[in-house]
Amino acid sequence: MNEPRQANGRERLTTDYYRDEFACKCGCGDDNIDLDHVVRLQRFRSLAKRPNVITSGVRCANHNKAVSGVIKNSSHVLRVATDNVVAGRTLCEMLEIAQEIGFKGIGVYPESNMIHLDSKGPQSGKRRTWGFLRNTGYIGLEEAMQIFERRHT
Ligand SMILES: [Zn+2]
Ligand SMILES: [Zn+2]
Repeated sequence: MNEPRQANGRERLTTDYYRDEFACKCGCGDDNIDLDHVVRLQRFRSLAKRPNVITSGVRCANHNKAVSGVIKNSSHVLRVATDNVVAGRTLCEMLEIAQEIGFKGIGVYPESNMIHLDSKGPQSGKRRTWGFLRNTGYIGLEEAMQIFERRHT
C-alpha cells in the first residue's frame, strides 16, 4: 500500500479512493474512516472493475439518528462501514464479490441496488447479513435477493 498522497487537493487513501468520499453527509466534516475498511473496499473496487458511489460513509451520531432512527451502534458511527452503489454491476454480482473479500457485515437494498459493506463483525466472528425494504424494514438476505431476482428477470 502506498502512503496517502495528495491529488488535486484531495487526500488519496488508496488507488481509487479519496478521503472526502467518506465524509459524513450532514456536513459536519467528520471523515475519519477506518483505513482497514478502505483497503478492503479497494479490493472490492478492484474485483468489480467499476467505479462506485459511496452513498454513506462515516456518520456522526446526529446524522445517524436522522437517517436510521433506531440503530445506536451503527457501523457507520463506528467508522467501519460504507453504503455503495456500483454502476454497471447488479446487486447479485456485488454480493458475490463482497462475500469473496470477507466483509464482516453485508446488507442488501434491492430497491436501490445498494450494498452495505462493513468491517466490524459480531463478537462470534460470524458474518452478519441482512436485507432491507423501504416499507417492510429489515428482512433476510436470501429473501431480499429473491425480491431482486424477481424484479430483474
Ligand atoms: Zn455529521
Ligand atoms: Zn449502511
